[in-house]
Amino acid sequence: MSLPVMVVHGGATAFKKEYHDEILEAVRKAARVGLCALNNGGSSLDAVESAIYVLEETTLFTAGRGASKNRDGEIELDAMIMDGNRLESGAVMAVRDIAHPISLARYVLERTKNYQIVGSGADKLYRQMLQEGYRKEVDTYRTTQVPIAIGCDTVGAVAADASGRLASASSTSGWPGKLPGRVGDSPIIGAGVYANEIAAASCTGKGEQILRIVMGRMAVYHVECGFSVYEAAKKVMAELRQKTSGEAGLLLADNKGNVAIEYDTKHMPTAVATATSDDVFISMTPKWPLKSANSSFVHN
Ligand code: ASP
Repeated sequence: MSLPVMVVHGGATAFKKEYHDEILEAVRKAARVGLCALNNGGSSLDAVESAIYVLEETTLFTAGRGASKNRDGEIELDAMIMDGNRLESGAVMAVRDIAHPISLARYVLERTKNYQIVGSGADKLYRQMLQEGYRKEVDTYRTTQVPIAIGCDTVGAVAADASGRLASASSTSGWPGKLPGRVGDSPIIGAGVYANEIAAASCTGKGEQILRIVMGRMAVYHVECGFSVYEAAKKVMAELRQKTSGEAGLLLADNKGNVAIEYDTKHMPTAVATATSDDVFISMTPKWPLKSANSSFVHN
């Protein structure tokens, strides 16, 4: 692959067939928006934030406007963003009246000295973010439709800019019916999301299992040890299977623009956009590495 590169996913799970086209259209749009940020001089952080924002804005995924409720019928959202070059991150957990927690996570990263803000503290910080004009207020409309995924479908993104600077991100409402206050892997540094100057990972799936093997960090570590992103992604998925009952998927990119996608669920809607191709490669069941001639990716 080449730089810059933008990759997004809509969760590792199974999706009802009648929604596949809409889902693929959403991930493609998200990847395009992220790549557009990179092509216009934006950072990889801009790219992953804007891509996740697009996915949160749809009602297709259990994140943002598509959030599902916890056991008590309330919505609690988690999101995280990480800058690989600075080795710094921002995360919010169990936030309520916000449509786009990814932007609040970015605010935590850019404008506070802390990395992880939870619950009512994050809700207060949201008001502060608006007062400072860091991002505009948007309504908190949520879908009332029955979830279209069987399980949960966190959204995630990784990006590398033209000079190989990496970022990764994730956003979710977590598993439907979760215990109030429950936080999974998605906003936890090293578990759901990790990035450094070598590689960046965004994981999705059974959070309690992903946490046990610190999956995002391990995937990046394998790349640091000399494995290709493809080998590293396979290796970490095998570790998850051997040591836990986890079902999961991940995006893994390195600073050369190489990308791996692995999952052991029925679907993992994914889109990959690069500057050297007008195409965005989209698939519900991606096979990787991409072979452009006989790719099992759908070229649109
Ligand atoms: N990992 C998320 C969680 O456990 C769910 C998902 O990725 O679908 O909250």
